[in-house]
Amino acid sequence: MKLTMPGAFQAQILQAARAATPAECCGLILGRREGEDAVALGLHAARNLAAAVDRFEVAPADQFAAQRAARAAGLAVIGCYHSHPDGAAQPSTEDRNGAGEENFFWLIATPAGAMAAFVYLRGVMVGADLVTSSS
Ligand SMILES: [Zn+2]
Repeated sequence: MKLTMPGAFQAQILQAARAATPAECCGLILGRREGEDAVALGLHAARNLAAAVDRFEVAPADQFAAQRAARAAGLAVIGCYHSHPDGAAQPSTEDRNGAGEENFFWLIATPAGAMAAFVYLRGVMVGADLVTSSS
């Protein structure tokens, strides 16, 4: 499983992670699925509604807007991204418990610059390769 994403998107997510600290940033990834792989073709930043700083909850209005934008562009919402201000770029217990959509990618970033991709596949969150594309 791999997620291919332009370097510019990765830079944008790291910037959002730093700007949101000490809270978590979050957003949705638009793109195209190719079997168990996916290509990121757009980012849709979302408001984080979580009350606690070490959680994230995508605002439903932003979720719907991302789905509309994806449909209009002939794409799908293939994943989400969020940051772990104090932690590692690894899914937390809450992330694992919150995952539910099959073949959905999770990109986790830290303000320090770490970034890793995961995918929820057959009921389990597993590591995925993050491949940088130039465009
Ligand atoms: Zn998390």
